[in-house]
Formats: sequence, structure tokens, C-alpha cells
Amino acid sequence: MPDWCPECNAMLIEGTEVCPRCGAQLAESGEETDFSRSDIAWFSAYTIAIVLIPLIIGIGVALLCLLVFFGRS
Ligand SMILES: [Zn+2]
Repeated sequence: MPDWCPECNAMLIEGTEVCPRCGAQLAESGEETDFSRSDIAWFSAYTIAIVLIPLIIGIGVALLCLLVFFGRS
């Protein structure tokens, strides 16, 4: 699959970082999109875990406090 320079539309060899025609800095697009997609999935999974784990611990602690409070009276 050939790459095309976004600045001057020159055809580029795969893996080229700098355009030989206009010297534009090029990002390797193909692999990065797949990587960032799985990265977003992992990020959302971590976000859910980071939000849910303290919430579950908080609810557990609150329930324990209620049990202790009502157990005493
Ligand atoms: Zn170029």
C-alpha cells in the first residue's frame, strides 16, 4: 500500500518519515490508527475500573458502617 505526502501528494515508499520531494514530516498512519484504537479500548476499561473499584469499596464500607451502627443500638 503506497503512502502519499499530505503536503505535495508525492508517492512515498512505505515507512518514509520525511517526504523526499517537499521535506514534510510524515507520521506513520497505518499502524498508529490500529494501535490508538486498542489504546482507547484499554483506556476506557481502565477508566471504568478506576471509577468502579473505589465506588464498590465505598459502598462496602458504608454498608459495614451501617451494620455496625444498627448492630449497636
Ligand atoms: Zn511532500
